[in-house]
Amino acid sequence: MKETQRFAGTRAAALIEGLDAVYGGIDGEQAAWRLASPFQCPPGCGSCCVNFEPDVLEVEALYLAAWMIAHQGERAQAIERGEFVSPRPDPERGCVLFDPANPYHCTVYGGRCLICRLFAYTGDRGKDGRPRWKPCKHLPLEGADLGALRRPQYSEAELLDRFGTVPPMMSDIAQRVLALDPDGASSRRPLRDALPDAIRKIRLLISFSFDPPNPNAPAA
Ligand code: SF4
Ligand code: SF4
Repeated sequence: MKETQRFAGTRAAALIEGLDAVYGGIDGEQAAWRLASPFQCPPGCGSCCVNFEPDVLEVEALYLAAWMIAHQGERAQAIERGEFVSPRPDPERGCVLFDPANPYHCTVYGGRCLICRLFAYTGDRGKDGRPRWKPCKHLPLEGADLGALRRPQYSEAELLDRFGTVPPMMSDIAQRVLALDPDGASSRRPLRDALPDAIRKIRLLISFSFDPPNPNAPAA
C-alpha cells in the first residue's frame, strides 16, 4: 500500500499491511447485512463519536499515523509536536479527530480505527457463543416496514428469521487484529495518547529509510 512505501520492509509496515487486509475484508463481510437490514445509519449522524474516544492497539495507531503522514502531513506534524488543535470545541469529551462542523464528522475516515469500522454493522456473541445483535440507539426506526421490529437485542434465530442473515461478529474481526501482534494484545491506549507516539515512530522509520549520502559520489 502506498502509505507504507516510504518505510517498506520494516515491522511497522508489515503490521500496517496486515491490518489493511483485515480492514479491507470488513466492508465485504458487512455487505450482506447492510443489504438485508432495515437499520441504516442516517447520513451525517456521527453521534457515536461525540462522547467516545477509541482505545487502540499500537497497530491501529500505526495505521492511522501512516495514513495521516501520507494524507494530512501538517496535521500529523502538529499531533507529533503536541500542537494539534482539535476541530471540536470540547475535545475532552471524545475523539479529538471528530469535527462537528464537517458533514462527514470523521476527519481521518481512511485511517480510522477498528471500532470505528465496526459500529452499527457488526454484532457480538452471547454467553452461548451464538451471534446476536443490538441496534444502536441512534439508528432510526422510521422509513421501512418496521412494524415488527424493536430495539432490544436480537438472537441469531431472530436475525435469521427476520433478515435471513446475521452481521459479522465484532469479536471475530478483533481476533484477526490481535493475531497480527500477539505481544501487543494487552496494551491499548486512548487514541490521543497512542497517536503521537505512532506518528513519531513512523517518521523515524521514514528518516532511516533515506539512502545516506555517498561520499564517493562525483560532485554535482
Ligand atoms: S452507529 Fe449509531 S450513532 Fe453511529 S453513525 Fe450509526 S446511527 Fe449514528
Ligand atoms: S477516528 Fe473518526 S470514526 Fe473514529 S472515533 Fe474518531 S472521529 Fe469517530
